Amino acid sequence: MASAVVISARGEERVRSGHPWIYRTDVVDVHAEGGEIVEVIGPRRRRIGHALFSDRSQISIRMLTVGDRQADDKLIRARIENSIRFRESLALDASAYRLVHGEADLLPSLVVDRYGDHLVVQALSQGMDRLLPAITAILVDLVKPAGILARNDPKVRALEGLEQTIAVLHGDVPESVIVREGPIEFDVDLRKGQKTGLFLDQRENREAAARYARGRLLDCFSYNGGFALRLARTCPEVEALDISADAVERIRANAVRNGVPHVQAREVNVFDELRRLERAGARYDTIVLDPPAFAKNKASIPNAMAGYKEINLRAMRLLNPGGYLVTCSCSYNVNEEMFAEVIHLASIDSHTPVTMVEKRMQGRDHPVIVGVPETYYLKCFILRRVE
Ligand code: SAH
Repeated sequence: MASAVVISARGEERVRSGHPWIYRTDVVDVHAEGGEIVEVIGPRRRRIGHALFSDRSQISIRMLTVGDRQADDKLIRARIENSIRFRESLALDASAYRLVHGEADLLPSLVVDRYGDHLVVQALSQGMDRLLPAITAILVDLVKPAGILARNDPKVRALEGLEQTIAVLHGDVPESVIVREGPIEFDVDLRKGQKTGLFLDQRENREAAARYARGRLLDCFSYNGGFALRLARTCPEVEALDISADAVERIRANAVRNGVPHVQAREVNVFDELRRLERAGARYDTIVLDPPAFAKNKASIPNAMAGYKEINLRAMRLLNPGGYLVTCSCSYNVNEEMFAEVIHLASIDSHTPVTMVEKRMQGRDHPVIVGVPETYYLKCFILRRVE
């Protein structure tokens, strides 16, 4: 008998409503090993589709097909081709972008990012991990990259019982690669950088912010300078803040590379620094807040909300009238409505009238699946202090 997993009525209902994940609590019977592609069977013994099966994670099933369509290498290849074609059609003004965005490309738990001639892949479930050799061969054939690096070091791999590794899967991957995003060049360390090297999901928000940025700029949580460097062309004074010495080092190097030496980077804790700047009476015309995910899980939502409120409130006070605040949250546990509420409260408590000029999300190469709220994680509001 082919490998199969029987799920509950509630699990079947989830699949019917378009969700690709079935949790362990909705798995009734298992005739499979972790990492296999399995037939998914409903409570009335009807075949629902095919999926990746994990025997360790809370997410036991990640649907690949619904109905009778087989889930084989041909399907994976067609989906990767489709993903690549979609990115090509976007005509992005960048040499680094996401080629495959997991669930949104119907390739659950697979990430493929392009950095010029190099690719970085992440296989975040047992099933995808097993498919990695086939996926590597498909990518080599379709993209012909100079090298492919597996950044299989995210913590979620441990939840799957998989090892956390970084390995070259194909060709050569140099210590640093140069990529372009609009007019800015970045020197990226694919092995040690956060995520797969850059925060690619913010590319279009940086572009959008460039339409408003002017005067004195404060870029908070700047990593290797994504916003600061992009906005430095219209801002004669730029301060970039990050707690990581490595990031600050890179901002400095990237500032020189891009001919914007007026970008000043400081290694500080943004929470402390905003307080200090407020006491010192500093004022800015443009402020960017792009913190890490404060709410990594449901339990941390109250603290996260307090954190978001604090930095937004202080940033509003530091803004000159007519100034812009580009404020982001990448916690999917804090949804758009909750984030808007935080901004509202920060505006009231800081006695600062602000208007919403643009409401944005992650870039188009990281699309959201309708009906899967988990895939809408990045919120970016562009606000203006009216007076
Ligand atoms: N804005 C960046 C991405 C920011 S990622 C871009 O466009 O590429 C979040 C950054 O916040 C990380 O670089 C991390 O080192 C930094 N960080 C986390 N906590 C911090 C804190 N309390 N103070 C300052 N920086 C912090």
